[in-house]
Amino acid sequence: MIMSNKEQTLSIIKPDAVERNLDNEIKEIFKNNGFKILKEKKIQLEKIEAEKFYKIHETKPFYNDLCAYLSSAPIVVMVLEKENAVRSNRDLMGATNPNDAEEGTIRKKYGISIDKNSVHGSDSIENAKIEIDFFFKD
Ligand code: UDP
Ligand code: MG
Repeated sequence: MIMSNKEQTLSIIKPDAVERNLDNEIKEIFKNNGFKILKEKKIQLEKIEAEKFYKIHETKPFYNDLCAYLSSAPIVVMVLEKENAVRSNRDLMGATNPNDAEEGTIRKKYGISIDKNSVHGSDSIENAKIEIDFFFKD
């Protein structure tokens, strides 16, 4: 029996990358790595929405700056599908700090700093479902 393990994950192209018009280039990287973009939209969040999205980080010292940043300019939000999409997207993104990211990863290539690191990706299947609902439940 052939087992398929198609998953969905949430990806965000963050303000620093959208501002530099890197969104199409980054979308091509996802497609070239076997991801299907099932849904996508370009939006700008209110700060209160960014605070809700990143609530898991509310006790961290960087929380306020992070939410101000994510809501500072337009972002591109996508549902990506692939086998093991959550893990695969995290691998393709690279480490949170672009300085620590592997060669060939999106954050290594485009990230400016630990806060302006160009992309977000869900960190678990459970959080992927929550994050996809957050942006695409209608
Ligand atoms: N972040 C930051 N300073 C830090 C750690 C994280 O500004 O010291 C930001 C960064 O943009 C990161 C986001 O907060 O992408 C969420 O942090 P997390 O640890 O979940 O990293 P990720 O899952 O995005 O790799
Ligand atoms: Mg995270």
